[in-house]
Amino acid sequence: MEPKAHRLPNHVRPITYAVDIATYPARGEFEGTAEISIDVLSATQAIEMHARELALREARVTVGDHTVPATIALDPATETVTFTTEKPLPLGHAKISVHFRGTPSASMHGLYLAHDGGERAICTQCEATDARAIFPCFDEPEMKASITWTIRTEGPVVALANTPLLGVEEDGEKKIWRFQTSSPMASYLYALVVGDFEGTPTQVVSGTPSRVWAMRGKAEQARFAQSFTGRLIPWYERYFDYAYPFKKYDQVAVPGFDAGAMENVGLVLFRQNLLLMDPRAASWNQEKLIAKVIAHELAHMWFGNLVTMRWWDDLWLNEAFAEWMAHKATHAIEPTYLVWNDFQADKNRALIDDALPTTHPIWTAVKTPSEAIEMFDVITYQKGCAVMRMLENFLGESKFEAGLRTYMKAFAFQNAAGSDLWRHLEEASGLPVGALMRSWVEQPGFPVIDFSLDDNTVSVSQHRFSSSPKHGATAEYQAQLWSVPMVVRFEDERGIKEHRFILDTREKKEILPAEGAIKWISPNADEIGFYRVNAKGRARELMLEHGPAKLTAVEQMGFVEDQWALVRNSTCTIEQFIPVIDAFASTHDHNVLRAITDRLGTIDLLLKDSGDQRAREGLRAWIAKAFNVQLNELGFVAKKRESQNDMQRRALVIYALANLARQDAVIQESVRYALEEQKDPRAIDANLSGTFVAVAARFGDEARYESWLDTYQKRKSSGAAPQDCLRYLYTLAMFRPEPLTRRTLSAIDGAMIPQEAIGSVLAQLLATRETQELAWGYLKTNWDALRTRVGDMGLSRVVESVGHLRAQHRADIVAFFTEHTPRGAERALARALEGLDQREELRARVTPGLLSHFKLEAQA
Ligand SMILES: [Zn+2]
Repeated sequence: MEPKAHRLPNHVRPITYAVDIATYPARGEFEGTAEISIDVLSATQAIEMHARELALREARVTVGDHTVPATIALDPATETVTFTTEKPLPLGHAKISVHFRGTPSASMHGLYLAHDGGERAICTQCEATDARAIFPCFDEPEMKASITWTIRTEGPVVALANTPLLGVEEDGEKKIWRFQTSSPMASYLYALVVGDFEGTPTQVVSGTPSRVWAMRGKAEQARFAQSFTGRLIPWYERYFDYAYPFKKYDQVAVPGFDAGAMENVGLVLFRQNLLLMDPRAASWNQEKLIAKVIAHELAHMWFGNLVTMRWWDDLWLNEAFAEWMAHKATHAIEPTYLVWNDFQADKNRALIDDALPTTHPIWTAVKTPSEAIEMFDVITYQKGCAVMRMLENFLGESKFEAGLRTYMKAFAFQNAAGSDLWRHLEEASGLPVGALMRSWVEQPGFPVIDFSLDDNTVSVSQHRFSSSPKHGATAEYQAQLWSVPMVVRFEDERGIKEHRFILDTREKKEILPAEGAIKWISPNADEIGFYRVNAKGRARELMLEHGPAKLTAVEQMGFVEDQWALVRNSTCTIEQFIPVIDAFASTHDHNVLRAITDRLGTIDLLLKDSGDQRAREGLRAWIAKAFNVQLNELGFVAKKRESQNDMQRRALVIYALANLARQDAVIQESVRYALEEQKDPRAIDANLSGTFVAVAARFGDEARYESWLDTYQKRKSSGAAPQDCLRYLYTLAMFRPEPLTRRTLSAIDGAMIPQEAIGSVLAQLLATRETQELAWGYLKTNWDALRTRVGDMGLSRVVESVGHLRAQHRADIVAFFTEHTPRGAERALARALEGLDQREELRARVTPGLLSHFKLEAQA
């Protein structure tokens, strides 16, 4: 049932919860008592709070030393329970106690059994609205209250909760774990875990005890996380000028999780591969990812947990901020990671989604639980992060920091809204933050800046960018305007300069402070602005000619991505785009190379769909020519003291030569190294293992598939690092023979594919031409079971991937999802259909030009 939009009345507020809960991994239910101290603000007989899928009994209300029974009325439509007493309660304190019983959820929400192979643990995930499925509570972010957990367990397990342990009572096999009382916090941050965990030794960082926990036998893999956290906590304390606000910091790798990680107060849960690693098994990218996720969750302890949004419509404040802070902190602590270069690809994903007519403003009204779930998307996280970064760049680092510090102190342990933050940033900077941010936060989409250069004069104009030719001209799009902070970088006779200005009108001319001729120009310096640029005339010529040598890596990526987006919405032709690929394919920067290989992948698919083998041969010859030069220079194996860039570049070049150019020698060599990795993962550099294993799977047969399964299972059961296991799991979907796709799909039903991986595996199968028909059939047949098991995040991923099907499936997709509403993934479905339509429109428009170009290449 779809729950109704509903808010709790304000006349009863929670103060503390004492929750005594018995939960055993081996048993199919949990039960306990909740004692809730409340403040009655106006006389009432009815106390309403949230409860879902719980059996409740023995409700009693105590005022002073007088206890009376209360009736229990559950309302599934609003997910609430109302406790009613015979006489009205007086104003002031009261206490309600109730017994609850429930079954662990089959999805990875509320209280659930996380399991993967032999590993199992009871976990909780309360965000957004699932605390109410564990015990009755006031489940809204503004209803902050403290919690005191008591957890009853059986057998050799460890129980952890939001606060430090007070003590354990043992009674044979049974144990009672009592925890300290927390500070006031929102119900979506309550958490516990019970399982066979082992922790790293406690490290005390500026007074805060911190540990990392993993399933028994894996604590050794937590060393990186432990040490990185130890460096982060003091950095955040200095940045916020506010000591870590809670009593301890535990991070736990659990064997089944829907999101990447969750910032519960004092008890952060992670997917294993986002917290654990063997430094020799993890690639540079995997290590960076772990660092960024740890930094993201830790930032929430201040932003989100100490100061909490008033309501879910301001979720973006939590997530945009944590995402931005994660990059800033990680960059400060480990500048060699170059995490802002990684962010360019994330930002591009946000620009793609935000250019669809189905997008939404960063700030969006939220009424129902499923609307809250849909807010966890690329607009909230990545666009929000980009907008925060743009704002910091506009205000300056020190003023931004000063505003945050006063905001943090003013709202500590309370709730705040976006406007509160803007006010503090305005006071710190003296700049019109509110006006600027409203244009970015309250309206959907973003502008494209038409940018031209005439001598020293820049002419800019803005209008809302649309990824499809058909939407851009609507009156709604035409009316929108942004307050765009622009930073233009250029080189003149005297050197490199920057010019800053705000474009808040439709168009504007700016005279650059140039002396002599402008040699090259970057219209969006360091790609900090969240917009696309349509460089015209001389500006475009300069970028094409000098871009590869003079622009930074992210500026080059930005140029390539903007140029492609302009082809997609038919501002530019495919013939205009080919010189861009030509100019940047010889780049030595791995980030730019990734942008180029992504586009080559798109072109390859268009040519494949056209069925014209000669044009495809032409593309292959072109890629071989461009990338063999790089491979010859780099070699197949890592060199001593090689730069990280060269290492990453090698992986991309090998991928392109094998998968796109189909160079037999490169495929054979990759397979050889993959088989070596299979025998001994340490024999191959971790930065290359993923590519070798993927290429070997892509061109693999049944025997190889068997050996992949075998390797995955053996490594998993021996407790190997997650990175060593997952490269075999996630490449199963890359095997192309149809019987193998069927086997992968049937493995989703069994225990072989872990619950948390189902979404990724199925999404990958749906997005690939050779496997998508079978995957779509599977999805339709198994929908009911899938939608529960795949998780909320997984569901969105799967539904969105349906948009990669060919046009002939469109009517079937619409019909299927009309009958089977993808609740919580409705926006994902709208994006999928829009994406499908746009890909088909693009195909019809650009394929003829691509064919004639690459047929000529084939002759060359
Ligand atoms: Zn977050």
